[in-house]
Amino acid sequence: MSYSVVTSNWFRLSFPLFILATIWLGMSNVIVVTEANLGFASNLPFVLFLAVIALSHAFKQSRIAMIATAMLVAYWIIQARLQTPLSTGTTLLELCLLSFLSPVACMLVYPLRDTGLFSRTYLIFLVTLSLFALWCYIILSYFYAGGFEQVNETFLFVVPQISRLPLVLVLYLAALVGVSAILLLRYNRIVDAVVYSAITLSSTTYVFFHIPYISVTMFSIVAILLLIYVLSASYELAFNDRLTNIPGRLALDSDLKHLGRKFSIAMVDIDHFKQFNDTYGHDTGDDVLKLVAARLQEVGGKAKVYRYGGEEFTVVFKNKTVKEAVPHLESLRENVENYQMVLRDNERPKNDRQGTRRRGKSQKNKTVNITISIGVCDNAKQAKVEDVIKSADQALYKAKKAGRNKVACF
Ligand code: GH3
Ligand code: MG
Ligand code: MG
Repeated sequence: MSYSVVTSNWFRLSFPLFILATIWLGMSNVIVVTEANLGFASNLPFVLFLAVIALSHAFKQSRIAMIATAMLVAYWIIQARLQTPLSTGTTLLELCLLSFLSPVACMLVYPLRDTGLFSRTYLIFLVTLSLFALWCYIILSYFYAGGFEQVNETFLFVVPQISRLPLVLVLYLAALVGVSAILLLRYNRIVDAVVYSAITLSSTTYVFFHIPYISVTMFSIVAILLLIYVLSASYELAFNDRLTNIPGRLALDSDLKHLGRKFSIAMVDIDHFKQFNDTYGHDTGDDVLKLVAARLQEVGGKAKVYRYGGEEFTVVFKNKTVKEAVPHLESLRENVENYQMVLRDNERPKNDRQGTRRRGKSQKNKTVNITISIGVCDNAKQAKVEDVIKSADQALYKAKKAGRNKVACF
C-alpha cells in the first residue's frame, strides 16, 4: 500500500474500527485463547505500553507517551480494582469515574508540546493524573459515607440492553469518540490518530465491560496501535521534507509505485532562484521556499505535491492526462506569480524594546514576487514512470528556454 493511503485520514479513521469489527466477529475465539493464556495475555498490555513509553522517549513523542501512560493506569485500575461484579461495592462507581476521566486525560495532550520524557510537560501530565486520582479518592470516600444514594437512581440511569454503564456516560463517550474522529478527519496528525484510537477502544471496553476479557483485548489493541503510531511518527519525519514540511523524495518514490493506469507528472522549478539567494541571503531563500511550497499545495485537480530537491518540486496527478492537468498547472503558475511574499526581517533586533518598535513598522518589510516554470508529461506515450519524469524535465527545460514563468508540455 502506498505511503499516502496508510497516512490518509480515512485509513486512520477506519483502521481501528476494522480491527474492532474483526475482534467482534471472533470474540468467542478471543475469549478461548485469552483464557488458555491468561497469565501472558493479562500482562501483555503492561509490557506493550511500557515499550511505547520507552520508544516515545527515544523519538521525542512525549504526547504519545502521555496517552500510553494514561492507558496503562486505566488498565491497571481495571485489573487491580474492577474484577468484582459491577453490582458489588463501589465497582460500578469506580468504572464510571474511570470512563469519565480517561478520555479527558487523552484530550489533555492537545495543548502540550512534544519533547522527551524528562521534561516539565510530562511532569505536569503526571501531576494532573495524580490530581484525578485524588478527586476519585474523595468521591469514593464520600460514597462510603453513603452520599450517593439518590444519584444512583436518577442521574446514573442505566439501560441494561445497551450497557451496564449509565446512559449519560455512554452518550458522553460516544460524543468524545465523535469529537476525536472529527479532529482526525480535519487535521490528520499522528497525535489525532493516537487520541482517536485510544478513546475509541478504551470507551468500547467501558461500555461493554460485562463481556469477558474485553479489557485485555481492547487495551492490547490500543497498545499495538500506539506502537505503530510511535514508529510511524519517526517514519513520517523521514518522509516529510524538513524545511517545507511537505512530502519529500522518499514519499514521492513510494507513491510513484501506485499511480494507476493514467497519470501526469509535472516538474516545477523556481526561476532565477540562485540570483534570489545571492540578493537576499540563504535564510530568506529558505523562507521563500516554505512560502512557495505552501502555495503549491493549493494546486487543484486532487494533485499531490512533493519537494523533489533544492528549489524543485513535483506535482503528481492521478487519473489525468496532460490536457486535463494543464489548466490546474496554469492557475498554479499564476497563483505563485501574483503572490506578494512579505520577507521577514532576518536581522534580529538587539533588544526587546527595539523589537517592539520594529514590529510596528511593518511597511518596512519588503515584498517580492517569485515565478515558477513547469514541465509536464503523462504516460500516454511512455509506460515507465522514470521516463515520464525525464520527459517532464525536458518540458521544463523548454519552459525555461521560452522565457520562464511558463507551463510546457512534452
Ligand atoms: P533557473 O531559472 O534556470 O532555474 O535559475 P536558478 O538560479 O533557479 O537555477 P539553478 O538550478 O542554477 O539554481 C538553483 C539554486 O537554488 C541554487 C541554490 O542556491 C538554490 N537552492 C537550492 N536548494 C536550496 C535551499 O534549500 N535553500 C535555499 N535558500 N536555496 C536553495
Ligand atoms: Mg533547479
Ligand atoms: Mg531554478
